Amino acid sequence: MSETNLTKFLLLPKLELIDFKYKSNLTLYQCKTTSKSLWCHHCGLECFTVHDRRVVKIKDAPHAIKQKVLIITKKRFRCSGCKKVITENVDGISKYARITERLQRHLLYICHNFANMKSARKHLNLGNKTIYQRHYKQLDLEWRKRKNDPWPKNIGIDEHSFCKNKKYGRREFVSVVVDHNSKRVRELAPCRDSLTLKQVLSYIPGRENVQNITMDLSPTYRSFAQSFFPNAKIVADKFHVIRLPNRILDIYRNKIFKNKKLKLRKILLMDSTKMEYWKKKEFWRELENYPQLNEIYWIKEAVHRLYRCRSYKKAKRSLINLTDHLALTTIDELKSLRKTLMKWSEEILNYFKTRLTNARTEGFNTVCKQVQRRAYGYSSFYNYRLKVLYACS
Ligand SMILES: [Zn+2]
Repeated sequence: MSETNLTKFLLLPKLELIDFKYKSNLTLYQCKTTSKSLWCHHCGLECFTVHDRRVVKIKDAPHAIKQKVLIITKKRFRCSGCKKVITENVDGISKYARITERLQRHLLYICHNFANMKSARKHLNLGNKTIYQRHYKQLDLEWRKRKNDPWPKNIGIDEHSFCKNKKYGRREFVSVVVDHNSKRVRELAPCRDSLTLKQVLSYIPGRENVQNITMDLSPTYRSFAQSFFPNAKIVADKFHVIRLPNRILDIYRNKIFKNKKLKLRKILLMDSTKMEYWKKKEFWRELENYPQLNEIYWIKEAVHRLYRCRSYKKAKRSLINLTDHLALTTIDELKSLRKTLMKWSEEILNYFKTRLTNARTEGFNTVCKQVQRRAYGYSSFYNYRLKVLYACS
């Protein structure tokens, strides 16, 4: 690399290197600006007379682990027209800033990959206020790049807890909207109710594009999706439907075996197709001694069978059979299960048309939780949202 190229790589475009010095953990680059004239921003004349010079200390992105500090001698010109003194700006450093744009971009990477902001601050040798302000400003810029993207074809919606309400003591929830097509979080809303969700999401264009929405069995999200996305089909998440009878099984198992046999739980919840033939036979024979548990177990198996269907028609028939069978039950929990299945039948069957699940949304929920844990909780939802949108993109 030639000397001019090397200086261009180390410094900023319009700077000339004079000298450099090594200190324990930093390198000091002494440099000056190369401009010969400046356009006056008061009267528009070109100024050539140098009034005096000023020295500024600017921090730059580290190079080969060592901190880089630019000591720049800036010129101040006197305008021949209005006689005012104007200071020149250096490309790559914004007005009044004490760090370069390059360091600001580097800061985004460091803050995202380091364990916490404290270690990032130590690594970059910057102040607390600078690092927080610049980091969230960069995150905001990243979000603005994708702000006006229209709605995709497939989306998912779910919630997770955020913080405790200081006034009332209840937990506050956050709704996450996931874009299944580009595999990222599209938006975060600090609520679960339909009205606020509509207000928060109203800035995104192209609501008509959305064709499938995956969600858990939540009536509020369903009513919101029905009113907000006119062309959307709602798909109930497979995992949430399968776990419905599991809860009932757990309740009855605890009632019968008071010492909570965990081994039995595993066998009860297991899909019977995954069990060995002789074990299965033996287990079923034993289960006949507990009629209520037996009944719930076979309902659970029927739900598993429903999700093994290959076509929409077969699934529909299977679901009707299941609800018909449940109509004869005497167990209260199974009666309410039947009601839920009837209410959500259309959404459950939509799965067999699209084969979409809410797994990605649940995965992003875990990322959100990790972001919270890493920061020991957030007090500002605004900052939390920016951080999650960057982490899940
Ligand atoms: Zn002037």
